[in-house]
Amino acid sequence: MKLHEYQSKQIFAKYGVPIPRGRVASPANEARHIAEELGGRVVIKSQVLVGGRGKAGGIRLAKSPKDAADLATFVLGMDIKGLPVRKVLVDEAIGFDKEIYLGITNDRATRRPVMMASAAGGVDIEEVAAETPEKIIKTHIDPLLGLREYQARDMAVSIDLPREYWRPFGEIAEGLWRAYTENDATLAEINPLVITADKRLVALDGKMVLDDNALFRHPDLNEIRDLAAEDPLEVEARKYGLSYINLDGNVGCMVNGAGLAMATMDIIKLCGGEPANFLDIGGGASSEKVAAALRIILADPKVKAVLFNIFGGITRCDEVARGVLAALQEVNAEVPMVARLVGTNAEEGLRLLADANMVTAETLVDAAAKAVEIANSAK
Ligand code: GDP
Ligand code: MN
Repeated sequence: MKLHEYQSKQIFAKYGVPIPRGRVASPANEARHIAEELGGRVVIKSQVLVGGRGKAGGIRLAKSPKDAADLATFVLGMDIKGLPVRKVLVDEAIGFDKEIYLGITNDRATRRPVMMASAAGGVDIEEVAAETPEKIIKTHIDPLLGLREYQARDMAVSIDLPREYWRPFGEIAEGLWRAYTENDATLAEINPLVITADKRLVALDGKMVLDDNALFRHPDLNEIRDLAAEDPLEVEARKYGLSYINLDGNVGCMVNGAGLAMATMDIIKLCGGEPANFLDIGGGASSEKVAAALRIILADPKVKAVLFNIFGGITRCDEVARGVLAALQEVNAEVPMVARLVGTNAEEGLRLLADANMVTAETLVDAAAKAVEIANSAK
């Protein structure tokens, strides 16, 4: 679950990380009052669950309360990377001399959290990571010991932070680490952490991603989930316990098992296609769940062909086929479908689908090739 900037910064602040004064304007005409309270010069910040808002024009400096009101209205009319802006954060404008990057995520290769810092923070951090990765300093954190004081100090030295900032940097790093572990986050990031003109360290931006599988331990955080800002198909999928991720391609896929779903996406690419989604219906899925999954796939206008890849073990292929047929009665699907079913009750399942004019295939490669060909020749 992704948190908005304002939510992330509020959590950081609880752990002692300095953040600018400010709050979300709701309704938008409140931006003017907030700007007055904060002394006139404010930053109007679009709250959308995607990065790169600055470059997309979603972060605006307002020089007066009147300016703030106009910019808030303007930003609220924007779409950033396909997501409509529904909330704006109004923060006091802060003058700064330097932008630092500081973040924590999990490093799967070492099976540990890794803290990353860079003196080249700000909106170009992706380019820095791609072109000059040596400018990003990494420190692995032992999950049992936590972040050690010397590690934070080493990082401060490595990014050439002047000595007077070592202590506050250490406190911020420690706060970020605690925010990360205590909330079961998979990402906690401050970009930029700035050195202000009056020589303080302040987190101007904040980003947190929480582990969905740990949300049951944080009912308060689960409540702040902003369903309106998430992909509606992903929200719908979660209701049915489906693991679904919307992607850019045109071949919709329905697979049982996360590993098999990954392999299916790889084979689609190998056949020259692009998957429109990742979708794992899980083991032993009922026909209702399968029907929901197919409705979700078909609700995506990018999908030009659907590929079913079902390995029947606990999951019964005939049950999957019945779910597909049930869904097809509700949704009027023009989209061609290709099915590859093997394992428990596969013959029965294939017969049901073939009766419904579906293309069937013996092997995954065969099925993927057919689905890709259909999708790529569709207009
Ligand atoms: P992002 O583009 O989505 O990461 O949004 P950020 O909140 O990081 O804002 C992008 C950039 O806008 C930052 O790197 C800063 O350079 C600038 N910015 C953000 N807040 C302020 C502020 O309070 N004062 C000033 N002067 N610049 C800001
Ligand atoms: Mn940022």
